[in-house]
Amino acid sequence: MRCAKCGKENPEDGKFCPECGSPMTGKRLTSAPQRTDMWSQFLRMAAKEKKALIILGCCLLLFLFFLVVFLLFVWTALRTADQRKSVSDRAVAAQMEKSAVPPESGSAE
Ligand SMILES: [Zn+2]
Repeated sequence: MRCAKCGKENPEDGKFCPECGSPMTGKRLTSAPQRTDMWSQFLRMAAKEKKALIILGCCLLLFLFFLVVFLLFVWTALRTADQRKSVSDRAVAAQMEKSAVPPESGSAE
């Protein structure tokens, strides 16, 4: 029977969980979602095994690396878009100059 509090597998006849000391009710808590159970299991495993911690660290590093790459990609894309925009702005300005519409100067500045 599995402890409802800590998820430790215990003998069927035990009244209290030897791991966390919570009373064994005889049935598992249905309110706790499966994901939380897996997560707590993983956390306990990580606490016991340093290897898991190293793997977790590697995952974190990999995640950070991808985050940095993603941010760099977005930044580059934004910069390229900005350059394109300024180029097109200049083209539009040149065209406007060519179309011989003198901008009203002195009113705003
Ligand atoms: Zn327990």
